[in-house]
Amino acid sequence: MSIRDYFPTWIHTGKAYGYPDCCISNFLDRGLALEQGYPLPGKFFEFRGEATGYVMCPECAKKTRKEVVDTVNSRRDPKFPRFPSHAI
Ligand SMILES: [Zn+2]
Repeated sequence: MSIRDYFPTWIHTGKAYGYPDCCISNFLDRGLALEQGYPLPGKFFEFRGEATGYVMCPECAKKTRKEVVDTVNSRRDPKFPRFPSHAI
């Protein structure tokens, strides 16, 4: 089992939750790097002081919190609660 086996699920889930394609791509790269034993630094989106499962790519990590939240919610599948109250 390779980390690549998780990619279709990660891509599908990331898109459903509204995460930008750049961040999803970055997340996959981070997974590959981790599998090869050299974890890449990442900036976790925090909610109420806790890291969520959303890891921002370097470009999105430079944006304001409001910009990130607005972007995610504009792309988010409406069947899910608004970000970041239910960030995964
Ligand atoms: Zn991004």
